[in-house]
Amino acid sequence: MSAAPDPSALPAPVAAQLAELDLRPGQPLLIADADEVLFYFMRGLEGFLTGRGLYFDWRSYALYGNIRRRDDDSPVAAEELHPLLQGFFAEATESLAPVDGAAAALAELSRHAQIVVLSNLPLPARAARARALARHGMAYPLIANTGPKGPAVASLRQRVDAPAVFIDDIPHNHASVAQLAPTTRRLHFVADPRLAALLGPAPDCHHRMESWEEIHNHIAAMLQDS
Ligand SMILES: [Mg+2]
Repeated sequence: MSAAPDPSALPAPVAAQLAELDLRPGQPLLIADADEVLFYFMRGLEGFLTGRGLYFDWRSYALYGNIRRRDDDSPVAAEELHPLLQGFFAEATESLAPVDGAAAALAELSRHAQIVVLSNLPLPARAARARALARHGMAYPLIANTGPKGPAVASLRQRVDAPAVFIDDIPHNHASVAQLAPTTRRLHFVADPRLAALLGPAPDCHHRMESWEEIHNHIAAMLQDS
């Protein structure tokens, strides 16, 4: 019998990446997700699905149940979803389009804050994501996380005694950070407007954001006040 994973535990590969990070203890920290925050994940996924006779049915904010076959509209089964997404990350991570305004906002904010990209993606796709970040002017340290993000954010917070901001599209990541690193300012942002329309503000976020311009202005004002 195997125990359920502990949602407050830091996975060993994530701990190893965090240990290699060079952090400045006194400088504000900006922790940004990648998919649907820095890169248009759904746009890329749609192209990938089209090439496989599949499509995304925009009914809810979930991959399971909404990826369907073109020929009979049947949903892809749960056991097929994981290998499909692994294939997507392997093939498409490097070619995803960057979100409008993200690189410029981060470049400006990096004058006052240290930036870490905290992205849930398979470890083998980490190098491709790092290359894509660099190519699009966002060559910031990248952590490939698995599971809830609270443990990684809590670990980062232990090393930085300064204001911190967390930006993510997925509500349960906000819940995890709220639980394990509650003093982190949590901004909810969903880059794809079709996806954003399916989801209200995350219950555990402080603010829902509509653009990188808005995120930039919010964080700049926050850092000025701190
Ligand atoms: Mg995301």
